[in-house]
Amino acid sequence: MSKGATDAEPTPEDVPVLDFRGVALTYPGTPPVEALRPFDLTIRRGDHLTIVGPSGSGKSTFLNIAGLLDRPSGGTCLLDGIDTAGLRESERAGLRGSRIGFVFQSFHLLPHRSSLENVMLAMTYNGVPRAERVTRAREALGRVGLGNRVDAVPTRMSGGERQRVAIARALVSRPSLLLCDEPTGNLDTTTAEQILGLLDELHTDGITLIVITHDPAVAARGRRTLTIRDGLLHELITA
Ligand code: ADP
Ligand code: MG
Repeated sequence: MSKGATDAEPTPEDVPVLDFRGVALTYPGTPPVEALRPFDLTIRRGDHLTIVGPSGSGKSTFLNIAGLLDRPSGGTCLLDGIDTAGLRESERAGLRGSRIGFVFQSFHLLPHRSSLENVMLAMTYNGVPRAERVTRAREALGRVGLGNRVDAVPTRMSGGERQRVAIARALVSRPSLLLCDEPTGNLDTTTAEQILGLLDELHTDGITLIVITHDPAVAARGRRTLTIRDGLLHELITA
């Protein structure tokens, strides 16, 4: 990756966002834990995929591999056509920062920084000049309906607002892919519905979306749904 790179080069439409071949992860130990059994999966640009399974089934393990946070113990994983296995940690971090946005159940915001600063922090290392970072952070906050909350700090925001800040932070680097791990797990039903509506809108605008959930109602919103149980992935084929 070139020094001072800002946004990733656009990838041709027909190159899958993610292509997994025989990917598996076994955690060492006695006995070892087969957290993900070997699977093949292709995620195309514009897909809206949900993965549903009970606690301990391997959902976060899948997300951590898809998001280049963990390395599989076997198989190959291509992100935007790039084989990620042979890359150094710094190269993986660069790809992660420019091409993947993360949204977690517990928001992961800095509690005493404004929402604007929280979103800007996502661009700290990608070489975007400060003035442009401010503009882009404001745009992203506007996109999630927080244009009037740029100076608010998370400690004074509702759960739904915090998750919107986290979504703005995930979007601001213009990623190929948004990975969401239980994005509504800490929200009441009404707020959860609003956040899911926002994710649907972002998908309609063109982002590729993977939502991990234990909630079948959340899973039902995907165009494609996979179940996972004891580390085994199965795609549900709908007519
Ligand atoms: P989920 O997100 O579906 O609740 P996880 O992917 O977190 O499930 O975990 C899948 C399995 O792998 C579980 O049995 C869990 O205990 C185990 N596991 C997760 N992380 C580790 C780790 N770092 N070391 C050993 N076992 C782990
Ligand atoms: Mg989990």
